[in-house]
Amino acid sequence: MGRMKSGLPSFSAGGLRDSATARLRQVAWPPALLSALARLREGGHRAVLVGGSVRDALLGRPPHDVFDVATDRQPADVIARFERTEPIGLSHGTVLILLDDVRIECTTFRREGAYPDARHPESVAFTRDLKEDLARRDLTINALAWDPASLDFTDPFGGLEDLERRVLRAVGDPSARFFEDALRPLRVARFAATLGFEPEPGTRDALGASPERASCVAPERVRAELERLMAANRPSAGLELLRESGLLERWMPELAHCVGVPQNRFHSHDVYGHSLQVCDAAPAAKPAVRWAALLHDIGKPDTREERAGDATFYGHAEVGAALADTLLTRLRFANDARERIVHLVKEHMFDYRPVWSDAALRRWLRRVGVEAVADLFDLRIADVIGNQRRAGLPAGLEEMRRRIEDLMTSEAVLRVRDLAVSGRDVMAMLGIAEGPAVGAVLEALLEEVIEHPEVNERDELLRRVRERGVPGVAGPREA
Ligand code: ATP
Ligand code: MG
Repeated sequence: MGRMKSGLPSFSAGGLRDSATARLRQVAWPPALLSALARLREGGHRAVLVGGSVRDALLGRPPHDVFDVATDRQPADVIARFERTEPIGLSHGTVLILLDDVRIECTTFRREGAYPDARHPESVAFTRDLKEDLARRDLTINALAWDPASLDFTDPFGGLEDLERRVLRAVGDPSARFFEDALRPLRVARFAATLGFEPEPGTRDALGASPERASCVAPERVRAELERLMAANRPSAGLELLRESGLLERWMPELAHCVGVPQNRFHSHDVYGHSLQVCDAAPAAKPAVRWAALLHDIGKPDTREERAGDATFYGHAEVGAALADTLLTRLRFANDARERIVHLVKEHMFDYRPVWSDAALRRWLRRVGVEAVADLFDLRIADVIGNQRRAGLPAGLEEMRRRIEDLMTSEAVLRVRDLAVSGRDVMAMLGIAEGPAVGAVLEALLEEVIEHPEVNERDELLRRVRERGVPGVAGPREA
């Protein structure tokens, strides 16, 4: 009997099933989840765990914060049985149940009709048959159900064997299933990245079979799957599937255009390959850095020029920032997340010379923003690893980091709020109301204090305010 990476013994289907059941019986499901299931079962109904929590429990992965439950109860009936619910997809029969500390996405057993818009079934017919419900699910490893009360384990499509073989297999005919719902190929890429599984050949070949359907998928859904893909250990595994199937071109054309663009002689990969390596090397727990890593060089295809037998990419950071902005806007990223990523792309080329004065370092910090410094260093470390110079930060940057740390722990003034005077002081001194003029006075003071930290004294600064008034405006009134 061999043991595969999943930890499940692999001698026979029966043995596999027994050990899976044994494993599921040992899971300490949250009490609130079990009591919700019990409440749904009252009066002879069914309620079972499905989806990610069953799959991940079998893989020995950490428990979920959202549990997927399937039931034969009608949605209105589910809503009536719990105090706190949210109708998150009522037309599909999905209700979010909030009970104590658990969140449950509860879906009524259903079978689906045609998918005219590549995303939503034309008709949803509720059914009392769990197997019919499992048949409409995307992958065999996601079409497993576990009933912690009766200890029934349902696996109609060989999902357990696929888990054991670490294989992603569409339920039913892959092309038809991907045609029905064009988000599914992206989910395959997501699971390839998060689980490290490979699609079986039929599923792989079908990923790009209906590229025109990709544009039918709501960008928010695409983003949600991409965000999960990007939080994986190795996003590159999923991104490569998207590239192979032509879907990268559909959803992230700016990145697809980096395929085959050669870099200069210092790089062994094309721009795209380098981007994937930097992305994998970036910290998974920092999504903004991950995205910036993936997108940091997308300005290169447009700025590439051959000079003296080598390639240059002048201005690629600015061009890349604009392209990143377009891409993230199209995927409906929240403004703050988008701005943070775009900023990192724009500033990723920062350079440092040991001869820089403290004032020069303070000016740089002011430009990139103190908040962005740690991210920029993480991005640079990933970039260095991505160039296969696995040596941490180059010596110069290590020194830069040390000096910045010193500056940040010293009294160094880097932001308006570090000034010894406030906007209120400025308004009182000049007798002006809140408005852009106050900001302009403070900015001018900051410029000066960055060069000469010793003037950051309240009386000193107030004296300057009184003498100079608002920059660009005729002198202050006589006191
Ligand atoms: P996660 O661990 O990220 O929650 P999950 O597999 O539970 O992964 P969900 O998006 O929560 O993913 O979906 C729950 C279940 O619903 C899936 O396991 C799958 O059975 C089914 N499902 C979700 N999206 C689709 C889809 N587009 N097509 C078919 N079935 C789907
Ligand atoms: Mg889930």
